Amino acid sequence: MCIKGQIGQICAKIGRNPSEITIVAVAKGRNAQQIQQVLEAGIKDIGENRVQEAADKYNQLHPLYHGREDIKWHMVGHLQTNKVKEAVKIFDLIHSVDSLRLAEEIDKQAAKINKVQDILLEVKTSAEESKYGFSPEEVAKSVKEIARLKNVSMQGLMTIAPLVDNPEKARPYFRMLRDLRDRINGLPTPGSRLPALSMGMTDDFAVAIEEGANIVRLGRAIFEG
Ligand SMILES: *Cc1c(COP(=O)(O)O)cnc(C)c1O
Repeated sequence: MCIKGQIGQICAKIGRNPSEITIVAVAKGRNAQQIQQVLEAGIKDIGENRVQEAADKYNQLHPLYHGREDIKWHMVGHLQTNKVKEAVKIFDLIHSVDSLRLAEEIDKQAAKINKVQDILLEVKTSAEESKYGFSPEEVAKSVKEIARLKNVSMQGLMTIAPLVDNPEKARPYFRMLRDLRDRINGLPTPGSRLPALSMGMTDDFAVAIEEGANIVRLGRAIFEG
């Protein structure tokens, strides 16, 4: 079944409206033609994890879809500060802001092109050392600091659940992200309303949606589905 049908079924089961869930087609390793097929099939959000790879495909596709304001580009991979200048030119939403320093660099480069860059803060919900992200303990404080930056706009939180053999085991990490989001939204920090929860990939998106995801990042489910 197509991905929208699957998400529709999951939502029906738990009483959510599928229209509140953005499907990001994560296109790393796929070519511009494959992305074009996905766009023709009605998915409007494209995710990439490397700036240079994204730029190559963006430059091929952007002229074809010029004027299509509904097509959005998402950065989901680790972003190095020396790539920020290029990234702010391409991406509508950067999911992977994992340090104050990176947020400051995005603020600086976005200001130069008169943009307010939408971002998510990546949270390291599991203790796996290979992963980037704010610790759950520090994220509320970082929200306060980043809220002061004029050319970034925080939209929410993102996490990558650990690789597990059963998607049920990813549930606590998704729940932790939602709880963190709800707690931050309860704080009196101006400019820190965080509606977005970017969580769930091909193997665990059903559980993520049950736990409140409103952005899912799907690679294999879309390109190999
Ligand atoms: C590759 C990737 C995805 C998509 O992975 P699939 O398991 O193929 O759905 C999602 N998020 C990030 C950060 C990724 O790097």
